[in-house]
Amino acid sequence: MEQDDCYQSVTETKYDCLLFDVDDTLYPMSSGISTECTKNIREYMISKLGVEEEKVPEMCAELYKDYGTTMAGLRAVGYDFDYDEYHSFVHGRLPYDWLKNDHTLMNLLQTVPIRKVIFSNGNDAHVAEVLSRLGLEDCFESMICFETLNPSKTSEQPENSDELPKTPILCKPLENSFIQAFKIAGINPQKTLFFDDSIRNLQTAKSVGLHTVWVGSSHKTDGVDYSLESLHNMKEAFPELWEGAVDKGDVPYAEKAAIEAVVALSCQLRLKLSGLYQNEKDKRLKHYKKPYFMVWFTDFAGFSGST
Ligand SMILES: [Mg+2]
Repeated sequence: MEQDDCYQSVTETKYDCLLFDVDDTLYPMSSGISTECTKNIREYMISKLGVEEEKVPEMCAELYKDYGTTMAGLRAVGYDFDYDEYHSFVHGRLPYDWLKNDHTLMNLLQTVPIRKVIFSNGNDAHVAEVLSRLGLEDCFESMICFETLNPSKTSEQPENSDELPKTPILCKPLENSFIQAFKIAGINPQKTLFFDDSIRNLQTAKSVGLHTVWVGSSHKTDGVDYSLESLHNMKEAFPELWEGAVDKGDVPYAEKAAIEAVVALSCQLRLKLSGLYQNEKDKRLKHYKKPYFMVWFTDFAGFSGST
């Protein structure tokens, strides 16, 4: 048994996929975005669905507790509405400018040599906006969002056969949402580390075989393998994920790319200038060409590291 374990650790990596929730996971709850989202949901229930204002807070809490999202709960108890309209009212009006580029997280995600996938209950447009604001739009191989699991804009109300009505919406923490996500993204849960801020999502995730990380907490409980106050601490908590990574130094990826672009332009300009010198056959200028190129190569190597 010990020999088998040893052999496995040498020949295989423990994880081949990192699966991430978005809201309150890629950015902290302290951003205030979630509070604004809750306000919008309550306003939608009052203004669009005609729910009495004084009943909304308790109803919201109950539906969220029973169904994972208020939206899934509203459909379960019989409210019918267009999903796109709901998302544009609830998410489309969020103060996205509160989210800023996160260079630290971008650098971590860009350097970890493991495929990364998004799994969010949010709609496509919301997830894309959040990733763009955080500067993380190029960090993930694929995304499982609301529309991925719920392709039609409305869905049939299922027949209710037990005391708790079923929802036609497929979303976390329903077990089937994870099973479908695995199929769509080609995920092996036994080799995947899942990051989420919702304990209920993590508990289902654990039951279907994922390794789980509770983000935004320092506590551990049932269904949680690891806890992490912030994704900024990923490398300290899971240094093994970076084994085999190419060292890009401390320069954030975007800044590095910008520097390399400037150096490349400089290179082109100087090559053109050198061509002009040759055409003019100005021996005096040619006299300075050689040391000029030596300086450029020194600059290029210094800026871009291993080239
Ligand atoms: Mg979340």
